Amino acid sequence: METKILDGKKLAQQMQADMKNRVDRLREQGKIPGLTVILVGEDKASQVYVRNKEKQANTVGIKSEVIRLPESIGEQELLDQIELLNRDETVHGILVQLPLPKHIDEQKVLRTIHYSKDVDGFHPMNMGNFLLGNVSTLPCTPYGIMKLLEAYNISIEGKNALIIGRSNIVGKPMALMLMQKNATITIAHSRTENLKELAQQADILVAAIGRGHMITGEFIKPGAVVVDVGMNRSAEGKLIGDVDTDSVKGIASFVTPVPGGVGPMTITMLLDQTINKVETD
Ligand code: NDP
Repeated sequence: METKILDGKKLAQQMQADMKNRVDRLREQGKIPGLTVILVGEDKASQVYVRNKEKQANTVGIKSEVIRLPESIGEQELLDQIELLNRDETVHGILVQLPLPKHIDEQKVLRTIHYSKDVDGFHPMNMGNFLLGNVSTLPCTPYGIMKLLEAYNISIEGKNALIIGRSNIVGKPMALMLMQKNATITIAHSRTENLKELAQQADILVAAIGRGHMITGEFIKPGAVVVDVGMNRSAEGKLIGDVDTDSVKGIASFVTPVPGGVGPMTITMLLDQTINKVETD
């Protein structure tokens, strides 16, 4: 079987071209979408993600700003900074790059961002609305994956979907989105005993584990759609996914590459939701 690539990079470029037009229309009305990203500490991967977000936001015409804070910053100081942004009318989206240093309560920080400016969809109000099936800001990574599946006309209804990983930002919301589109879902995690057998029954497999090349061809049901969320560094320092793409080729019907699959879609949905906040204001 020929395995086709789910090209997130290409779809992201198409969507961002459209977003530029949306921002142009807003600017004509004197409305400039503003996105502020807060980066705490010196984590190398976070620095790269934040730089990409800033660069792509600017490309579509969003006014983006990065506030860089030292690792040693106190929790209250960070919360005060967020409160300032909550009151700033030129800022429509606020994003705090995760992970945060251990001495800072991540949930408290996410709760402090006003839910109307939460472009990551991590605020409990947005998470709750999403769970209830109401209109809401959505977690960007699974939202981007849904857009990618939709663009390639992947049928979801009635399919067996296995999501490996149960984090709040990827695994859990991914499962919910696939269930909302009528897939039958299974969620696996580090305590799952029969992972390979479950995987072999999955029509759609989403790997959000954080372990380089853990998922090989023998896990894959012939014809399955494989989505690789993982971003790991190999021993040589190369960016690799959770899926060993070469070994699933010829078995899967579709696979997302790393890089160029899920990553670009995540940023694109962040930009989409920032613009949407201004459009619906
Ligand atoms: P987390 O570390 O929060 O979650 C990882 C999940 O994988 C956990 O639920 C864990 O189980 C499960 N897991 C770990 N080891 C195994 C195993 N051996 N077998 C089965 N399940 C296992 O990670 P995230 O969800 O934040 O991210 C996952 C990956 O996706 C990372 O590589 C991250 O860098 C990447 N990522 C990529 C994004 C993108 O835009 N492309 C965006 C966000 C993340 P348990 O709960 O039991 O510990």
